[in-house]
Amino acid sequence: MAFIIDGKKISTQIKDELKERVSLLHKNGIQITLAVIQVGNDPASSVYVQNKKKACEYIGINSLSYELPETTTQEELLSLVNKLNTDATVNGILVQLPLPKHIDEDTVIQNILPAKDVDGFHPQNVGALSIGQKGFISCTPAGVIELLKRSGIEIEGKECVVLGRSNIVGKPMALLMLRENATVTICHSRTKNLIDTAKRADILIVAIGKQNFVTKDFVKEGAVVIDVGMHRNENNKLCGDIDYNDVYEKVSAITPVPGGVGPMTIAMLMNNCVESAELSK
Ligand code: NAP
Repeated sequence: MAFIIDGKKISTQIKDELKERVSLLHKNGIQITLAVIQVGNDPASSVYVQNKKKACEYIGINSLSYELPETTTQEELLSLVNKLNTDATVNGILVQLPLPKHIDEDTVIQNILPAKDVDGFHPQNVGALSIGQKGFISCTPAGVIELLKRSGIEIEGKECVVLGRSNIVGKPMALLMLRENATVTICHSRTKNLIDTAKRADILIVAIGKQNFVTKDFVKEGAVVIDVGMHRNENNKLCGDIDYNDVYEKVSAITPVPGGVGPMTIAMLMNNCVESAELSK
């Protein structure tokens, strides 16, 4: 029977630990502030933004909310980012993605001060991760590492296969597993023999954005499988990239959707905000 990795429980543990760190900062007269910018009113983005604000409230982080109209120009957005960069009371800046098509996401990300880039998307932070230096790490892959460690799953020396090579999940995920001394293979849409490669994995991490794509044919007996995918199925229920019911009997541990990787992303964002404040102190 597979061990179900409980992301909800682990994320709550992390948030409670952060609450204590924040309370210590408060005692020393230090406040933490996260600025969240949303352009337009994409319903999914609004839910994410609301959840981030709720987490801030729980932990004791102040959140500044900027809800800008869809028609906001790139210059106007950059001007707000620059204002927040220079505001010493702001520790973290988060621009909710995706942005409207007329705004270039890369330009916006590059304009966020790396020391306030709590999403870990700035090229300086990505570069730091790739050469093993300190910096903010993309929250979803950082959350996966915490899930594995706090579930007592050994990473060192393990064969890890990451399905997906996006800048926000697949690539940083692979770098983090490498940093933890796994032997890492990255697969993508042009990979040949995807099933054979995935089957080599002791730890299989899936982030391809295709509902229920990974079946038991992709997994080795006893593998640990981590599902980053997030979809709504035909019954409006959340599900992942892994066909949970199909692989369950074959694996040794699995993350459910919902309640697996999802809650960890926000917990790690909160962690980055607290670290930003501790560093600036
Ligand atoms: P993305 O930017 O669309 O990247 C998908 C990656 O999967 C690409 O590298 C793509 O390869 C690869 N891929 C697509 N189809 C494939 C196939 N048939 N075989 C092998 N590889 C394939 O997606 P993302 O932003 O990384 O997100 C992935 C999933 O995670 C989505 O479901 C997203 O909603 C979810 N997500 C969840 C969280 C969370 O907090 N839980 C956070 C972020 C994302 P190419 O590079 O060759 O195109």
